[in-house]
Amino acid sequence: MLTVIALGGNALLRKGQRGTIEEQWDTVSKAAAILSRALRDVNAVITHGNGPQVGYLLEAFEMLPKDRPRQPLYLAVAMTQGWIGFLLQHSLSQLMGGREVLAVPTRVTVRRDDPEFSNPSKPIGPYYSEEEARRLAREFGWILKRDPRGGYRRVVPSPKPVRVLEAAYIARLAEAGIIVVAVGGGGIPVLDDTLEPVDAVVDKDLASSLLAYTIGARRLVILTDVPGVAVNYGRPGQRWLTEVTVSELKHLYRMGHFPPGSMGPKVAAAIEFVEKTRGTAHIGPLDRALEVLAGTTGTIVKPG
Ligand code: ADP
Ligand code: MG
Repeated sequence: MLTVIALGGNALLRKGQRGTIEEQWDTVSKAAAILSRALRDVNAVITHGNGPQVGYLLEAFEMLPKDRPRQPLYLAVAMTQGWIGFLLQHSLSQLMGGREVLAVPTRVTVRRDDPEFSNPSKPIGPYYSEEEARRLAREFGWILKRDPRGGYRRVVPSPKPVRVLEAAYIARLAEAGIIVVAVGGGGIPVLDDTLEPVDAVVDKDLASSLLAYTIGARRLVILTDVPGVAVNYGRPGQRWLTEVTVSELKHLYRMGHFPPGSMGPKVAAAIEFVEKTRGTAHIGPLDRALEVLAGTTGTIVKPG
């Protein structure tokens, strides 16, 4: 059964880690060990986020001498696909008993008139003082917004992904039994009319759902750092959902149980996938990936 598995940030960096290379190898090889057991008889495409890594690169660009060019955000996204794709490919391939693992740089189209381009919502990279923020806005045309946690941060558009340009190749590789790593960091965004790359960060869960239904996957699995989807999360009356239909989940979504930027996009991705394919979507903890795939832990979203 063709399965798309989306990895959350905790597969690459655990809470409290600084991101040294030793920590990265340690975390990614632990995730790979769990995945290798879950993937034994499964044709799969693995996707991943890039939040901390893209932020790190943007910070590094800021440290360059003033006369050196800053690379655009879309290139930073591409760099994180190589970076994380390599870590996953290298550690997984050593555990998969001869099965090939291949990371594919992936582009995702977005609409030029997506409302996010006139009203960007996604904060990325470091925090700046008001004075620095003014300079960066002037020098690079960035949009910076005051962050609730103090200071200013760059905000970028997070447009809805429309099409995965490499989808047909990814499908062929996965059907041949190769484990493919794709749409890293939500994919490298390009405009859908001219294919011109554009500075934006596409949500990885939405891009994973798009890829999954495009290549005819029967299952979308989103692995993260909580036991599943909860109602009243972190509040009195918190309850973990085990099995839920799309219509029940849509109702809960409208009631505001799933905040943007964390559980919201996962639930939206699951709803979209199940509605389009009548397959199932699974959201659960990475450290129990085998059971999440089998549907014995986490939350399963079913048609209906
Ligand atoms: P990832 O890196 O896997 O995408 P996120 O931090 O974006 O992880 O999303 C997972 C987080 O969503 C959990 O750690 C949890 O704190 C938060 N969350 C918010 N609302 C809910 C909810 N209703 N049910 C479960 N988790 C929730
Ligand atoms: Mg996330």
